[in-house]
Amino acid sequence: MKSHVQAVVIGGGVVGCSVLYHLTKAGWRDVALVERDELTSGSSWHAAGSVHTVNLDPNVAKLQQYTINLYKEIEAISGQSCGVHITGGLMLAGTAARLDWLKQAHARGRYLEMETQFVSLDEAARTFPLMDKKYFVGALYDPIEGHVDPAGVTNAYAKAARVQGAEVYRFTRVTELVQRREGGWDVVTDKGTIRAEHVVNAGGLWAREVGRMVGLELPVLAMQHQYLITEEIPEVKASAKEMLHVIDFEGEIYMRQEGNGMLLGTYERAGVPWSEQNTPWDFTHELLAPDLDRIAPSLEVAFRHYPALERAGIRKVINGPFTFAPDGNPVVGPVRGRPNYWVACGVMAGFCQGGGVGLALSNWMVHGDPGFDIWAMDVGRFGDWTTRAYTNAKVRENYARRFQIRFPNEELPAARPLRTSPVYDRLKQCGAVFGAAFGLEHALWFAPAGGEASEDITFRRSNAHGPVGEECRAVRHAVGLMEISTYSKYAVTGPGAEAWLSRLLTNRMPATGRIVLAPMLNPQGMLIGDFTVAQLANERFFVFGSGIAEDYHMRWFAAQLPENGVAIRALRSELTGFSIAGPRSRELLRRLVAVDVSNEAFPFLSFRAMDLGMVPALVGRITFTGDLGYEVWVSADYQCALYDLLVEAGRDLGLRHFGARALHALRLEKSFGTWAREFRPIYGPFEAGLGRFVDFRKHDFIGRDAALKEKEAGPKRRLVTFVVDAADADCIGDEPVWHDGKVVGWITSGGFGHHVGKSLALGYIPAELAAADRFEIEILGERRTATLTRRPVFDPDGKRMRS
Ligand SMILES: Cc1cc2nc3c(=O)[nH]c(=O)nc-3n(C[C@H](O)[C@H](O)[C@H](O)COP(=O)(O)OP(=O)(O)OC[C@H]3O[C@@H](n4cnc5c(N)ncnc54)[C@H](O)[C@@H]3O)c2cc1C
Repeated sequence: MKSHVQAVVIGGGVVGCSVLYHLTKAGWRDVALVERDELTSGSSWHAAGSVHTVNLDPNVAKLQQYTINLYKEIEAISGQSCGVHITGGLMLAGTAARLDWLKQAHARGRYLEMETQFVSLDEAARTFPLMDKKYFVGALYDPIEGHVDPAGVTNAYAKAARVQGAEVYRFTRVTELVQRREGGWDVVTDKGTIRAEHVVNAGGLWAREVGRMVGLELPVLAMQHQYLITEEIPEVKASAKEMLHVIDFEGEIYMRQEGNGMLLGTYERAGVPWSEQNTPWDFTHELLAPDLDRIAPSLEVAFRHYPALERAGIRKVINGPFTFAPDGNPVVGPVRGRPNYWVACGVMAGFCQGGGVGLALSNWMVHGDPGFDIWAMDVGRFGDWTTRAYTNAKVRENYARRFQIRFPNEELPAARPLRTSPVYDRLKQCGAVFGAAFGLEHALWFAPAGGEASEDITFRRSNAHGPVGEECRAVRHAVGLMEISTYSKYAVTGPGAEAWLSRLLTNRMPATGRIVLAPMLNPQGMLIGDFTVAQLANERFFVFGSGIAEDYHMRWFAAQLPENGVAIRALRSELTGFSIAGPRSRELLRRLVAVDVSNEAFPFLSFRAMDLGMVPALVGRITFTGDLGYEVWVSADYQCALYDLLVEAGRDLGLRHFGARALHALRLEKSFGTWAREFRPIYGPFEAGLGRFVDFRKHDFIGRDAALKEKEAGPKRRLVTFVVDAADADCIGDEPVWHDGKVVGWITSGGFGHHVGKSLALGYIPAELAAADRFEIEILGERRTATLTRRPVFDPDGKRMRS
């Protein structure tokens, strides 16, 4: 065993082996993998080995596609067969809503060059003769689905890595991780200690334990999962071709051929977790006791939909555990506060996703950036609020819903409410329908008095459409009140605060009492943040950004922080806020303060401490609605008092509550982009339309050289706004944009602009098409005409914000 390596990967399941292989491929040869037992001895050995590309997040779907296509490469390098059977696959819809979902998945796949296609039910039944087509309304064919040999794949990764210089130490358990003062880690094993600059936790079923070695409670939990293998089925035996892989959403079933029978797995609704607190170290190539009763409801559906299965006996039932994160996507990346400690866990479909996870993580470790948009699997999307019990509730919910439709307007109920702000009950009394962001409850919209505070889940416009329209009109014509505590807020202080922020962000820093908008770039010149920065007093800054990215951003801030001179603190629930927006918002503010808030005394982009009644607050003259407006921030203990004041003082001004849905509609009317939709690490500031906030007069900010190159070469893509000829469904994001019969771009967000009365969408298209006017956007399988608008449809000159 080596005593010193560049990186140690802990865990020889499919994921750890993939990470090891990809590290060698990226150029790190001095790397080792440490496995407690034999390779595959966690979840990997008993996997069904099905592979498919379906994922709600198109970026994860693309990485799944990469994984499946990778198998030829590792077979060639290792000489080890992966047992790949790419049979093609059918996704079967039994309801109209599921068909809409498939249309959406198909459309999303288009701009990622995924080649799914709808086939008639006759064609589906011809290619998969076991199905009874009367139970289905549609079928989507995917040419790259099938199955692989789990042990073959895992070993092929490991062998290919070894060919490229890596070492693999089997039957060696990591017992302790000790951070070295000079950097790096002592990886203590039962066979000796390895000093490593980097450590990767690919511990699979034991990822929590390997997390706890560095004081982390990772949000993963194992669930029991069952599949069965039937006896020989005559129709299967007689078939000249191997049976297709099939996903039948209504039965929560996946299926593929195994020998001359079928392998059938289910994600049953009554899923059962395994080892909820600790995973036993002596668990190895073991299975759990089968429980056919638990999967009986799915089997009944299977027997109806595929009558030949009922006639076949069951040869074997497998019940094994594998891990999930609260939202079902992998948990990947560097961990804040643990330099050079990386995670690659919670991978629930290692044979579909393992390659993509290995590629992204190795890029990140070797080149400093994952190289793709992996927000959906970044460990930074969780935080310390994702406790063990939270994870438990969410993972169970996710498992039970694995094959259910997640509607675009659907808020999932498990583990809620968890975080609430002080005004939660008051908002609830006003009819608020809540969503949760970063665990915090926030109002999406308000049901009218006497109406039910719940929303129909649908791909089309819901019962919220009317009330949200009323909220938007109140903002545009009078004054609206919205709680904005979900934003992230950071206090940055110390003698070096301004210089540090200036290096971190692209814009010049604001003078005292002023606000600027400032993107943040990585060294590759890609957007990794988008902030509002206010200077309250000398070297005392407040930075506001996206709430869901708080941990993601704190990880970056912490990595860039100098040892002395600057302190940054995430204010999370300490600072709560309201936005008051609309032409009468100044009148509302004026009634509550003793200072001059006229446009001359307190112009657009001002920031100041002032008392509203008895409540000490920080007030910024800014709003994301694009109207005249203010953001009022108070410490949480004043939030109810402030709320009562604002509501009382606004009563005769036509004040109305508005929620996140209305804010979304209002910002679309202004073509304002937002983090995780328009602004993501795959876009540069110029293509995202943020070039005016990049101040090249500053000589030293992260990403400057790359941003300058983007500016000089001209952006390749452009973020644009469309007015869409929609029917009863608006864009939600990820729809393909067509031009001249070809898919040329994608939508990042969409909705109905209630004030302007138009369906709107933001999205990216090639820069050379930015002069064109007519496009089409595919919504639920229909191509709708979309007209590119070069200016915001509401107040294009920004007069309202400055009035
Ligand atoms: C019944 C069943 C069916 C499945 N079907 C499919 C399918 O069809 N398609 C699909 O893509 N996925 C499927 N999966 C899921 C798939 O098995 C997992 O996604 C995958 O195995 C996860 O791999 P991993 O490397 O993250 O974890 P694991 O396989 O659990 O590997 C982790 C490894 O780390 C080692 N380890 C942990 N701690 C230490 C330590 N301290 N020191 C040294 N070594 C350590 C363990 O011994 C283990 O070998 C299925 C799972 C089950 C249970």
